[in-house]
Amino acid sequence: MKKILNYINGQLMEPVSGDYLDNFDPSTGKVYSLCPDSDERDVELATKAALQAFASWSVMAPEKRSRIMLRIAELIEKKLDVLAEAESIDQGKPKWLAKNGEIPRAISNIRFFGTAIEHFASEAHPMPGHAINYTLRTPIGVVGCISPWNLPLYLFTWKIAPALASGNCVVAKPSEITPMTAYLLAEICIEAGLPKGVLNIVHGLGPKVGSAITVHKQIKAISFTGGTKTGAEIARTAAPMFKKLSLELGGKNPNIIFADCDFDKMLNETLRSSFLNQGEICLCGSRIFIERSIYTRFKEAFVEKVKARTIGDPLLDSTLVGAIASKMHFEKVMSYIELAKQEGGTVLCGGYTVKPEGRCSEGWFIAPTVIEGLSFDCRTNQEEIFGPVVTITPFDTEEEVLAFANSTEYGLAATLWTENLTRAHRIAAEVKSGIVWINCWLLRDLRTPFGGVKNSGVGREGGWEAMRFFTEPKNICIKL
Ligand code: NDP
Repeated sequence: MKKILNYINGQLMEPVSGDYLDNFDPSTGKVYSLCPDSDERDVELATKAALQAFASWSVMAPEKRSRIMLRIAELIEKKLDVLAEAESIDQGKPKWLAKNGEIPRAISNIRFFGTAIEHFASEAHPMPGHAINYTLRTPIGVVGCISPWNLPLYLFTWKIAPALASGNCVVAKPSEITPMTAYLLAEICIEAGLPKGVLNIVHGLGPKVGSAITVHKQIKAISFTGGTKTGAEIARTAAPMFKKLSLELGGKNPNIIFADCDFDKMLNETLRSSFLNQGEICLCGSRIFIERSIYTRFKEAFVEKVKARTIGDPLLDSTLVGAIASKMHFEKVMSYIELAKQEGGTVLCGGYTVKPEGRCSEGWFIAPTVIEGLSFDCRTNQEEIFGPVVTITPFDTEEEVLAFANSTEYGLAATLWTENLTRAHRIAAEVKSGIVWINCWLLRDLRTPFGGVKNSGVGREGGWEAMRFFTEPKNICIKL
């Protein structure tokens, strides 16, 4: 059985404990590899290595850092097929999605920040006749990057790329549910000649490895993506230590559909925004609000299309809906479907588990599920499910739908469908979320600020926001 290894001080190594966790293929429900069950001793080794590497990495000419990062991106590109298949087996997502979307995006993340560092500049604030202030932006030191299981390599690289580009050294922890592509990335980093200790990857459980990173005195900033509850725990520990914190947390995103939208375009994108990656994307729209005059038309057309989605073996090109990433998450999603029924919801399609024939018969599959008849403030409509489950609800007025949309504790993303530009601007300004898509979904420009408001997070990633997060500004004032 394949053993995943930690990547510390430039070397692939066993965890200090010698213990391993089972790593499952969610499409078969079987263990297919072993993941290190690391602990604070491995984090200590990684931090020591990172501190040592920082002395030279932080002062290396940006174009030299850039060149190494571009080499890493090039090698990922060369191994696209291997990485896409690995991601699919580890996470349960369709292989075509990993191959066409996520691994290419990991490449873009590294290229984007690897070249951004060559253009990064700091500010000057002249005081005419008196002085000039200039801002020095220096790397922070050793930083911690903790990422989740839904878009494993994509989100992992989204964090480590700006951290490394701006001269920090990293101790990173991918989710123990999906460690494989981070391990393959470690092999790539070695091949690309990344100096030892610059990036360290410690695999294992959140409460052991993640919390050891969070409490470590020498790790000066934490960039975390994951659930709101975990984010709160990290903030409780890190805030009194005055660590810099970037928290990208959960969501319960509204899709607001007005009768004047381009119906066919809206319908196809709403299918994607509901069920892409089994709905396991923090940006998926899970509460769909439809103007009453088109509610029945939408419901019939949507349910017909959802029923036609092919569920099954993630390695097949024909599969649209793959497996749920873990048994625990599979059970959580199913429990929410039960809750929705108890709360008076009507399941229009899905709502059941699927046992595909053949090699995936023991996998964790859930049919895409559409539920109607729930109040906007019931638990199903307030709590994050993070799976292939959406609710549909009619509305009558803009005021009403805004109240529905803004009623949750989350505020990550919202999608609006209308051909009325004035209304689009009005609602976009009023909806409480960090990201708004109008007549589209998941259209991403890596330069834009990315993140949520309310319990969806603190801080922004993307573009200069990320480069600023991973640097410490120092103002220097010179009297003229
Ligand atoms: P978790 O919060 O459970 O875990 C995220 C990461 O944190 C994992 O690596 C996990 O390790 C680790 N972790 C768990 N406990 C601790 C701890 N006490 N201290 C430090 N680290 C810890 O989230 P999920 O992995 O379940 O991911 C799903 C969540 O992520 C959803 O809520 C989703 O909305 C959110 N998300 C947000 C995004 C955004 O950009 N806002 C993007 C993508 C997802 P382990 O897996 O080993 O437990």
